[in-house]
Amino acid sequence: MKERLYTIPVSEAFEAGDECPFCFLERKNEQEMLDFVLGSAASYMESDIREKTDQKGFCRQHFQLMFQYGNTLGNAWILKTHYSCLLEEMGKISKSSTSAGIAKGVFKKKYQGNDRLESWIKEKENSCYFCDGLEETRRRYLETFFMMYKKEELFREKVKKSKGFCLMHSRQLIAAGYEQLGEKQQEEFRELIIKLAQEEMDRLQNEISWLVDKFDYRNRDADWKNSKDALQRGMQKLWGGYPADPVYRQNK
Ligand SMILES: [Zn+2]
Ligand SMILES: [Zn+2]
Repeated sequence: MKERLYTIPVSEAFEAGDECPFCFLERKNEQEMLDFVLGSAASYMESDIREKTDQKGFCRQHFQLMFQYGNTLGNAWILKTHYSCLLEEMGKISKSSTSAGIAKGVFKKKYQGNDRLESWIKEKENSCYFCDGLEETRRRYLETFFMMYKKEELFREKVKKSKGFCLMHSRQLIAAGYEQLGEKQQEEFRELIIKLAQEEMDRLQNEISWLVDKFDYRNRDADWKNSKDALQRGMQKLWGGYPADPVYRQNK
């Protein structure tokens, strides 16, 4: 039953015909998380969720998405108690830690990362409720992908006929393939991912070239072909994401 929970969205992502099914899943998941935390269900008022957001905090990118989502009161509540948590921890650490004490001299010594307060800030900087949640689902989707890939001939065909993946997700697939597939399938899979990446990047480069050519006045009346949105698709094809997406806001 739990398997079905992930196979359906993975199949849907491949049917969407997007530049990268894993980007498609990631966006859907991120929007669902924003709705869950800040939307009308108001999960930010539930103590177990708030405990997590207090502890984990948020990265710069997700603060931006939270702000743009537009629930001022919800965001303020989350931030208020997250601050309490940070101030308490910071108070304890700053009391018990001292400077790492690197002697200043003619020969500069390399900092060893042994200032507890500095490393605490660094740890907080890299901690994010949304990033952690997305990472967990990403791993489940990858596992589901390989489960389907191993079992279903039809799904393998679907992958072969797809537009491939962004370069970032191609790398993740190659890496996960080593863990999830047997030796023979590993090699085959790796070749497929690389072949897809090269062919699809080639297609995109052609579409982007035509976008450039369209700016030539002699091509003013020529057909756009697939180039109208080639810029955002070309950017996505490398490191993922949806540059042209409108801001995701709360449904009022
Ligand atoms: Zn992607
Ligand atoms: Zn984040």
